[in-house]
Amino acid sequence: MVYFALKITGNLTGVDNLQPRGGVDDPDHPYLFKLHCENCGEVSRRHSCVMLSEEVPLPSVYGKGSVNLVQKCKLCDRVGTVKMISGFGKPLNHSSGECGRYVRIMIFECHGLAPVEFSFGGVWKAQSRKKLLEIDLSMGEFNDFNERVHVTDLKAKFETMRTFGRYGDRYLYSPRIDGW
Ligand SMILES: [Zn+2]
Repeated sequence: MVYFALKITGNLTGVDNLQPRGGVDDPDHPYLFKLHCENCGEVSRRHSCVMLSEEVPLPSVYGKGSVNLVQKCKLCDRVGTVKMISGFGKPLNHSSGECGRYVRIMIFECHGLAPVEFSFGGVWKAQSRKKLLEIDLSMGEFNDFNERVHVTDLKAKFETMRTFGRYGDRYLYSPRIDGW
């Protein structure tokens, strides 16, 4: 079991607090990424889509419970799982983006697979001086020249969390090592 933090950064002009439309733990926000098979090294050709509200049962060989994705590697047939862990993300604010600091928005608990190549799908939101804006980032950036709102230089990465783990019914980690 490996825990990956999805971290994003980008330049926010005229807006602050970029996050999925319903917040970082929006149950219906689609997170899109490819999967790297840890058995044979193959990277899936298509993006997979997971969201908090869509759960599937864990394959019985792995035990009981549910995850957000069960996927079989097309090359070696190994089955892997991805489970989203809510409650540890925060919006990207203007000052973090300005100095290129990455902010964690979601954690993924993965078995046999590693997430790679995140794609900004779904509807995002950010606060301008006047109003809350809905933002489409699927082209990699957002520009509203009338409102003077720009979201550019978007980047995302998955980082292995070194101290995150489950202890009984709680998740614990060291913010000093894995960041807030
Ligand atoms: Zn494989």
